Amino acid sequence: MAERYHSVRLTDEKCQGCVNCTRRCPTEAIRIRGGKAQITSSRCIDCGECIRYCPGHAKTAVTDELADLKKYKYNIALPAPSLYGQFSVDIPVRAILSGLLKLGFNEVFEVAHGAEIVSLAIRDHLKRKDIPRPAISSACPAIVRLIQVKYPELIDHLAPFDAPVEVAARLARAEAEELPGLTPENIGVWFITPCPAKMTAVYQPLGAEKSNITGAIAISKIYPALLKVVTAELQDARRQASWVGVGWAVSGGETNSVGADNVLIVHDVHHVANVLEQVALGKLKDVDYIEMLACAGGCIGGPLTVENRYVAEHRMKQRISRKKMEDPKFGRLPRTDYSEFELGVAGRRAIEPKPILRLDADITKAMNKIEFMDRTLKSLPGLDCGSCGSPNCKALAEDIAQGLASMTDCVFILRKKVRDLAYEMVDLADKLPPPLDKNQEYEEKEKC
Ligand code: SF4
Ligand code: SF4
Repeated sequence: MAERYHSVRLTDEKCQGCVNCTRRCPTEAIRIRGGKAQITSSRCIDCGECIRYCPGHAKTAVTDELADLKKYKYNIALPAPSLYGQFSVDIPVRAILSGLLKLGFNEVFEVAHGAEIVSLAIRDHLKRKDIPRPAISSACPAIVRLIQVKYPELIDHLAPFDAPVEVAARLARAEAEELPGLTPENIGVWFITPCPAKMTAVYQPLGAEKSNITGAIAISKIYPALLKVVTAELQDARRQASWVGVGWAVSGGETNSVGADNVLIVHDVHHVANVLEQVALGKLKDVDYIEMLACAGGCIGGPLTVENRYVAEHRMKQRISRKKMEDPKFGRLPRTDYSEFELGVAGRRAIEPKPILRLDADITKAMNKIEFMDRTLKSLPGLDCGSCGSPNCKALAEDIAQGLASMTDCVFILRKKVRDLAYEMVDLADKLPPPLDKNQEYEEKEKC
């Protein structure tokens, strides 16, 4: 199988083997071996939790650069709504959009336009009686991947639509292709991203063969340059998305846009995993829809943003309440319908399961390994301390069954073994014959 693309990477030299990341990873993708972290590619969902918790900044996200714009004749920026929360409320959204033009983009197309269309599609989807309940939002690529690897039985619950950014990219690209002198090859479509999972989705799209997005530039990377130009004169009064679409930046915003009421809103990948566990057990069938976001607080809490998430959330709320005062139609989606082309229905592929616990392709060998794992787990202390380099005792038992670790990786087992060995050596030492007195032996030889 081809190696999966990942935006999240490890810089070996910076890793101190402190185990912080192993304990935070929601898919148990990280092990410490030989004093350094290692990421198992098939388990990683690019959620970025390890970036947040690595004290040595050994974990980073690879994204594209502003300099990559030079490769294309015509470049379109797709700003995530969370970008607006990075700036003080005195800087209007249209100044931020104009700022992007000043940085070299030829056009700006807000991802919030895509969110408006997806909101309408979800609203219609929830009216259907034949879908598995609860339906689950497919907007966050880290959550879709979490379901692929840990809860593949829930794939049918995912809303069968592209994420807003992909919808926005399709529309922006189609508009640009209408312009004279442009071909698909010379149009660059760049997502200004708050998280690595979305960067990964560009190179390994979910539900499509190929993404309409050319690349993704981290908000943290573009922010310093953008900050210098946002206060400058507006280059153009861009058409703007409604605040219903923009609201998707914050947890609860999607639900607000869809207008559904029997919705469970969950954010933070660990809470999401707990709720998915319940859904997998057949619970929560009385809930219509679950809005799920991997980052605490929603996309404004993404690891590639620059502002504290509470500050960003406050700013988004301030912007919304100002807008409410200005706009009598505030809070309503600016449209009531959408087309199949906008939603990308034609080219959509099924999301495939990618389950992680595959001990062996041979079922008999796999069963033997499971039995061995269970026996091994019973002899481990069950403290889940993570000192062995695996995130918990169960993971160490699995690693031992796979031949990737040994019992003595557990510090408690090792300590007991060393102590037993020390006692045994003391016992053996007591049984030794008395030592010979070398001087006496020499004198006796001399007399002879
Ligand atoms: S990005 Fe997320 S899934 Fe991947 S190794 Fe880091 S914490 Fe684990
Ligand atoms: S958090 Fe993980 S990657 Fe960072 S230093 Fe500790 S072990 Fe290494």
